[in-house]
Amino acid sequence: MDLKQEISALEEEVRGHLSTIETLEGLERFRVGYLGKKGKVTLLTKRLGTLPREERPEAGKEINRLKAWVEAELERKTHTVKEALRQKRLAEERVDITLPGRRVPRGRDHPITLVSREITDIFVGMGFEAVEGPEVELDYYNFEALNIPKDHPARDMQDTFYISDNVVLRTHTSPVQVRTMEKQRPPVRVIALGVVYRCDSDVTHTPMFHQVEGLLVDKNITMGDLKGVLTRFVHLMFGKDVGVRFRPSYFPFTEPSAEVDIQCVICKGKGCRVCGNTGWLEILGCGMVDPAVYGFVDYDPETVSGFAWGLGVERVAMLKYGINDLRSFFENDLRFLSQF
Ligand SMILES: [Zn+2]
Repeated sequence: MDLKQEISALEEEVRGHLSTIETLEGLERFRVGYLGKKGKVTLLTKRLGTLPREERPEAGKEINRLKAWVEAELERKTHTVKEALRQKRLAEERVDITLPGRRVPRGRDHPITLVSREITDIFVGMGFEAVEGPEVELDYYNFEALNIPKDHPARDMQDTFYISDNVVLRTHTSPVQVRTMEKQRPPVRVIALGVVYRCDSDVTHTPMFHQVEGLLVDKNITMGDLKGVLTRFVHLMFGKDVGVRFRPSYFPFTEPSAEVDIQCVICKGKGCRVCGNTGWLEILGCGMVDPAVYGFVDYDPETVSGFAWGLGVERVAMLKYGINDLRSFFENDLRFLSQF
């Protein structure tokens, strides 16, 4: 067969072969079969030497043209195959946006978080600044500087977790008062909300709970200011019609001291099981800062005065939401938590 015939036969073959290729592997097989070292087009080039000298230039031209054409066809086909594969993949990966989505369960704030935020907002709204202190505290800040020396009977009022002789888990947020006054001169208006620890556990006590401590020290602060601030707090927290009363009490770091009761939120003061038929519920402790405390922070009790109070966040949450077991806050039962 003469070379020209062979070339056109090869062209036919290439056309037919290319039209059947659908994969990248097929393309590679085609490339090796025609353009590779032992490919049909390559072998044709090697045959040039066997032709009579005068036919070689013309034949060489023809073979080069064939080679260029096969390369161009291969490239075109490669493009087509790749595009087809891409379309196929896209079709397979297509997302059906008409399918309903999977439901993601929505979290909620813990009731303690909700109440903490509300209490903080109320006092910040009255001009107090929210501050924090360490939960692992020195005995000095937790007791000594609050006028509770070692051997003081008041230490028995609080069942303390001792880390060592001088380090405790704070039993109240009051040490933040002392830390604040050490760093800051009057006027001082702060609240400290956080976790406190007592070695105690039953229906009304958990070893860990939350307190809010408040402190206001300035010139000419009186018990009247204390009553005003705390009454306002109760009214914002529980409603403006709720009755408030102050009862004399004792705390080592305040003098005089008082406990604050609010009218029972369950029976509205008529008397029920929750309030022990008294119509009143204890909500917080407070008092005028004992001058002895100022001695620890180098404040002059002749020129400044102030008041402090502390209240349990869980207590407020129980009254606000009508919860009767303190432990339900810490059992992580979603049926309970999802109600808020
Ligand atoms: Zn009641």
